[in-house]
Parts: sequence; structure tokens; C-alpha cells
Amino acid sequence: MHSTLPPELEEHRASCRGTAERHFRSLIPTMDRERTFPHECRPVLAEMGAYGLPFPTEVGGAGGSWLAWAILHEEVARVLPALGIHFQVNTVVAGALLDCATPEQIERWVPSLLSGEKVAFFAFTEPDTGSDPGLLRTRAERTEHGWRITGQKRWITNARFADVGVVFAKDPDGDVSLFLVPTDSEAVHAGEHTPMLGLRGTGLADLYLDGVEIPHDHLMGTTGGRFKTLKKAMTIGKLGLSSMSVGIMQASLEEAVRYARQREQRGHPIIDFQAIHHLLAEMTSRLEASRQLLYWAAMSKDQGAEAIPEVASAKLFITQTAVDVTRMAVSVHGVYGISEETPVERMFRDAKMYELLEGTSEVQRELVMRAVDAIR
Ligand SMILES: Cc1cc2nc3c(=O)[nH]c(=O)nc-3n(C[C@H](O)[C@H](O)[C@H](O)COP(=O)(O)OP(=O)(O)OC[C@H]3O[C@@H](n4cnc5c(N)ncnc54)[C@H](O)[C@@H]3O)c2cc1C
Repeated sequence: MHSTLPPELEEHRASCRGTAERHFRSLIPTMDRERTFPHECRPVLAEMGAYGLPFPTEVGGAGGSWLAWAILHEEVARVLPALGIHFQVNTVVAGALLDCATPEQIERWVPSLLSGEKVAFFAFTEPDTGSDPGLLRTRAERTEHGWRITGQKRWITNARFADVGVVFAKDPDGDVSLFLVPTDSEAVHAGEHTPMLGLRGTGLADLYLDGVEIPHDHLMGTTGGRFKTLKKAMTIGKLGLSSMSVGIMQASLEEAVRYARQREQRGHPIIDFQAIHHLLAEMTSRLEASRQLLYWAAMSKDQGAEAIPEVASAKLFITQTAVDVTRMAVSVHGVYGISEETPVERMFRDAKMYELLEGTSEVQRELVMRAVDAIR
């Protein structure tokens, strides 16, 4: 397919693809079957700029664009999507810090996140809520020396090996505030790895905050009003998930074409059958539509827009489409498509995950609806 990207971004794609193939393909069994995080990938991800590509160099980023970051995600996910879930958390947490932290906090915490030296967690979800900040139960109390945080966070990526993270908690005024919580205290601990359908090996676990004490300067910015920071930070996460979904679709199309060329039935490769043409054509068309929507959302952010409805539109369409496209890849493979012998089985499982996390499709529709409401 013809690329509308400038040559330097196609070169960036080729470079990311080469790195992902060389270093990450061999890690698929470790993450997907053994459900273990391969820490040896971290220097490679750091070298690629995966943790901090779109942030300015003054804060330790690589000064790249959101579009370049989306392409990087796409190419890593074409090989191993679960890795993208790991590194995008650092970008999301840095985004939250840049939105509401003091200059001193930014200087202290952001560079080590963007370089990948430290691994972050982002803890909003709880047993009782994934979509409604009003239902948060984690609470922050003032102490003589700072704050005491008590609560339980659910389904936290990187939880089992993160160094530091942000915790959303109800402050004494009943508002949502954000706190930086290092994991080196005994009062912070992760539960067992949570088994999931897909995107395995990311250190996903519940995080327990048993009255952990943190100093005053670990409150991010001022108290209250952090629902806005949540929405902005999650916009970064959703852009990452949309990019990864495009990468999975690309991989599933490549696998489907490869299989259709070599599998024979009734004396012909199955790619000669019109029914298979239709599936492959649908997959191609949906993939390219998703890719263009992704680039439009990324470019909206590059042009300085908050891009909340743009990214929500992209996440809504692309993650649902990725489930359809990977399902079609499974169909091209017949029963081999649902066997662990073929890569599309994992791709189908991974694609379904993206539809649900960082806000379900229903929640994205509500965000898109605000743009519709603005039409007069
Ligand atoms: C692999 C993985 C990694 C994750 N990583 C993290 C992480 O690092 N940090 C973190 O904080 N969380 C994380 N999560 C949690 C995830 O973001 C939430 O689970 C997700 O946002 C949905 O929340 P829920 O499952 O509690 O759904 P609920 O909010 O309970 O929703 C249940 C149903 O109600 C619908 N619904 C809810 N609200 C509305 C509404 N306003 N309008 C219409 N329908 C609605 C939903 O669409 C859904 O169908 C992760 C989850 C997974 C699977």
C-alpha cells in the first residue's frame, strides 16, 4: 500500500521493525507462555526511545513526535504487543507529572522515567471501579510529615517490578488527588501475577497500599481536581493502545497471507479461493482505515490539541476493528487459527484486551459524544 508518511518516518518505521524483529521475536514464549517479563528488553527499548520519544529534550525526552511514537508502538506490537503495555506506562506517568506536578517534581522524577532507568506504575483502577472516579476507595490522610495512603489497586501493569508510580486517591476534602509512591516501602506490595486472556507477562497484579507514608513533596502539584489529569494521561495511553492494535492487525494480515499461500485444499493453495480473497481484502481495508485514523489522532496531538475526542474516536474504532481483523485471520487458518501452534491465536487474544483497557468502548463513546454535542 502507498505510504502517505514522509520518508524520514518510513525510515523510522524500518529501523523500529528491524530492532523489534532482532530483539523481541524470541521473547514471545517468555511473555505469552511463561507469563514472565523479560527485563533484558529494557535497554533495547530505551535505546529505541520507547519510554520517552514524544517529550521535549529539556525534560529528558527524545524530542520526537506523537506520530513517530505511534509508529514505534505499531512496530513493537507487530512482533510482541505485551511489551508496548509495559513501556507506555512510563510515558503515561510522565505525561501526568508534566500536567500537574511542580517544576522540582518534574526535574526529580521525569528524566529517569523517560530514559527507562525506572519503571513506573499508574494506579487508578480498584476492585469497585474501573470507569468511575467517584467510586475510588483509596484514601490519603495528612500526617505530620506528609501523607498516609491506604487502599487496594486492581490490574496494575508493571506492579510486580515497578520502582515508583502514581496513585489516585481521595483526599481529606473528598476530591481526587495524585500521589507519587515509591515501591521500596514494606507498606507497598504487589499481589500474585493476575492471569489474563492476553497481553501476558507485564507484571500485572493488584497493588496493596497498607498505610504507606510518603513526604509532603510526593503530592503531585496541589490537592484536588485530578480527574482532568487522569483524562489527559489516559489519552496518551489510548493512543498507545490504538497504535498497538494497528501493529497486531498488520501482523495478523501478514500471517494470514503467508498461511493462505502455503495451505492447500482440493489441489489449490487456499489463497485461490474467492472466500479467502474476501477475508484478506476486508482485513487490508480495515487495517488501512485504522492506520489513517491513528495517524490523524497522533497528528492532532502533535499540533497541540488535547485530542481527547480524537484519540477516543481512534481507540473506539481501531480496537474494535482489531478484534474483527484478527478474528478473520483466525478464520483464514481454520482450526489451526485457534491452536497454540499458530501466532494468530495469540494475536486474537491480545487484540480483545485492548478493547477493554484504558476505558472500554462504551466509555470511549461517551467521550466522542461530547464532540457530537458541540456540533450546533
Ligand atoms: C491488561 C490490563 C492492564 C491494565 N492496566 C491498568 C493499569 O496499569 N492501571 C489502571 O489503573 N488500570 C489498569 N487496568 C484496568 C482497566 O483500565 C479497567 O479494567 C478498564 O478501564 C475497565 O474497568 P472495569 O473493568 O472495572 O469496568 P467497569 O467500569 O466496571 O465497567 C463495566 C461495564 O460497564 C460499562 N460502563 C462503565 N461506565 C460506563 C459509562 N459511563 N457509560 C457506559 N458504559 C459504562 C463498561 O463499558 C463495561 O462494559 C488494566 C486492565 C487490563 C486488562
